Amino acid sequence: MITAYPNLLAPLDIGFTQLANRVIMGSMHTGLEEERGGFTKLAAFYQARAKGGVGLIVTGGVSPNLRGRIAPFGSELSHFWQVNKHKKVTKAVHQYPTKICLQLLHTGRYAYHPFAVAPSKIKSPISPFTPSAMSVRQIKSTIKDYAYSARLAAKAGYDGVEIMGSEGYLINQFACIRTNKRADEWGGSIENRMRLAIDTIKAVRAKVGEQFIIIFRLSMLDLVEGGNSWQEVVTMAKAVEKAGATLINTGIGWHEARVPTIVTSVPRAAFSWVTERMKQEVSIPLITTNRINTPDVAENILATGQADMVSMARPFLADPDFINKAAQNKADEINTCIGCNQACLDHVFAQKRASCLVNPMACYETELVLEKAEHPKKIAVVGAGPAGLAFSVYAAQRGHRVELFDKGNEIGGQFNVAKQIPGKEEFFETLRYFDKQLDLHNIKRHLNSELVIESCAEKLKSAGFDEVILATGIKPRKLAIEGLAEGLANNKVLSYLQVLRDKVEVGKRVAIIGAGGIGFDVAAYLSEKSLTNNLDAWLKNWGVDKSYQQGGALLNKGEIGKNMPVRNITLLQRKSSKVGKGLGKTSGWVHRANLAKHAVTMVAGASYKRITDKGLLIEVDGKEQLLKVDHIIICAGQESNRDLQQEFVDAGLPVKLIGGANIAAELDAKRAIRQAIELAIKI
Ligand code: FAD
Ligand code: NAP
Ligand code: SF4
Repeated sequence: MITAYPNLLAPLDIGFTQLANRVIMGSMHTGLEEERGGFTKLAAFYQARAKGGVGLIVTGGVSPNLRGRIAPFGSELSHFWQVNKHKKVTKAVHQYPTKICLQLLHTGRYAYHPFAVAPSKIKSPISPFTPSAMSVRQIKSTIKDYAYSARLAAKAGYDGVEIMGSEGYLINQFACIRTNKRADEWGGSIENRMRLAIDTIKAVRAKVGEQFIIIFRLSMLDLVEGGNSWQEVVTMAKAVEKAGATLINTGIGWHEARVPTIVTSVPRAAFSWVTERMKQEVSIPLITTNRINTPDVAENILATGQADMVSMARPFLADPDFINKAAQNKADEINTCIGCNQACLDHVFAQKRASCLVNPMACYETELVLEKAEHPKKIAVVGAGPAGLAFSVYAAQRGHRVELFDKGNEIGGQFNVAKQIPGKEEFFETLRYFDKQLDLHNIKRHLNSELVIESCAEKLKSAGFDEVILATGIKPRKLAIEGLAEGLANNKVLSYLQVLRDKVEVGKRVAIIGAGGIGFDVAAYLSEKSLTNNLDAWLKNWGVDKSYQQGGALLNKGEIGKNMPVRNITLLQRKSSKVGKGLGKTSGWVHRANLAKHAVTMVAGASYKRITDKGLLIEVDGKEQLLKVDHIIICAGQESNRDLQQEFVDAGLPVKLIGGANIAAELDAKRAIRQAIELAIKI
């Protein structure tokens, strides 16, 4: 078969060994590392990705010593007795021609415990703990710890290690004046600041010999004030190569940077240009990374010579078979990572096990298993939103005969609305994926087929269905505010669906009632233009300087893109907490910052008094205030749409509810899809 991805699938010769293709599964902490019995599950997780064809896997970060742990019980490899559990992982992966490297990560001042150490005693803005400044003795013993850890990794069967030198962790902290104020031979000039990195590589190489992969993750863009200049980054890259690294991986942005680097609104492959620039400076293979999520994007990077390899992390949570599908020219069957962070990074930050919104089996390979059904049933699924779509596909995989009904003229439910929000274009991919899967599993779709109370049970019963799954989603919540009925009647008050789905024209002055996920999205829709296809404009908007005029590659404040507000928008909530507090931990700040850039006013603690033809009367802190607006848009949450349930019950047709039809409160697609697989396993 002629492959559509010749560069992606080309092997890479690294001298003492060969990598099967140009794709690395980037390092991800899953939470299984610290779970009791977690390594068996971790082995199954990595094995599924190796089976799926990825060339090289980098594990989640493991500290070389106690102080470098991310949290008090974070993972560490520094004792011989810890080797055995890692062997489970390496053995599982080596059933396939995939290599696996252990990531060595010392968190420095990002450690979430009181034993944190750093080059200087400077607290990070994202950890409550002030680190102590390392003594020279501590630095030297840390280097030895890295080397010993690498030796243990070799004993455990790993093919190499990745030394984490970016994202604002210890080695990166030493490399930059932002965090390194030392006056000894470990601070000052770039040669001194990079000494920890270089001595660590040399010490590791000395311990593990020549036939062992050493990847160094180099911060090519710090994206913080006090970050390194391009010249300093190049000096470090050359020294890393000379010290004995096999590959250099690209690191983008410190965790404390105020530039989004991986959320869904970041353009695809937004940072590969920096790896491309580095290719002129060193000769060892370079890996590029960040927001690469399709084989086409990856192939293009490699074909145009921007990098020698691509690293993708979350795309392998979304689909373990990414590479095999690409190799078989079945890219349209790939379950694409949509960059939402909802089940992966947001879970890790909440100290929960990582998984994936579009693939709940990720990290649950041994627990969520779809076995063939003993007694296949004929099942009607009503509603083709994420819950109904996912259930249909999972149930069909078990051998059930599934037919899917939706009143709309396309599949997708609310995702068809979500995909129209600027920066949420990736949601198209999930719908493309399900569209293909319905075909592959011969799931008959009945679109434009609204089931109504009067005839639903009779219709499905006479068609011979054994069971009904109600995935009919939600209805927008109805409010009781004085003047609301008149406002609705004269179109001064609109629902979010009228705005996003029905495209009702909205005036220049707007009040939005409700600042949940949908309130934020409506504000974005009415104020922002999508920049996902305009990399230069996106970089300028976030203050990134591609020409790298100063350290950290940031623009001066005055040069950052200015947005002329197209509307005057007020986003309101009743709670007195910070507006947007309930949004995702790793993405909420991006939404808030973007709305602030577009001069959206956010008001907490509002009570809604009256709607008049002049606007919305609110009370905040005991003071009444009239918001003179053209439109008031209601985004005040949702209620379950399960009107049909009783009819099926009365007709004796077994019915089960999933997604919004089951519980609307705090429902998101993650819960809807997870619930779908849990039911499909049982039915
Ligand atoms: P729905 O998606 O509502 O699907 C229900 C389906 O049932 C619809 O297709 C409807 O036509 C059909 N139906 C209803 N009644 C009948 C009937 N009588 N007969 C036949 N068919 C019927 N979630 C996230 O996780 N992350 C996000 O970033 C995100 N962003 C969002 C942005 C917006 C603007 C919106 C509106 C939602 C967003 N969501 C997001 C929420 C997410 O889309 C929902 O949680 C999810 O769609 C719920 O899935 P569901 O299948 O339960 O219901
Ligand atoms: P939501 O997040 O629950 O927000 C509802 C908003 O309405 C809140 O601001 C709430 O704040 C307000 N509200 C609730 N009851 C009200 C009432 N009776 N009168 C006035 N205001 C009221 O729900 P949503 O915005 O509709 O979103 C639906 C689901 O989609 C969410 O659960 C979310 O997970 C998901 N979603 C996620 C994203 C994402 O980016 N991850 C984006 C969009 C949607 P107060 O009670 O303080 O007023
Ligand atoms: Fe990608 Fe979202 Fe899945 Fe994370 S949860 S892997 S961001 S699709």
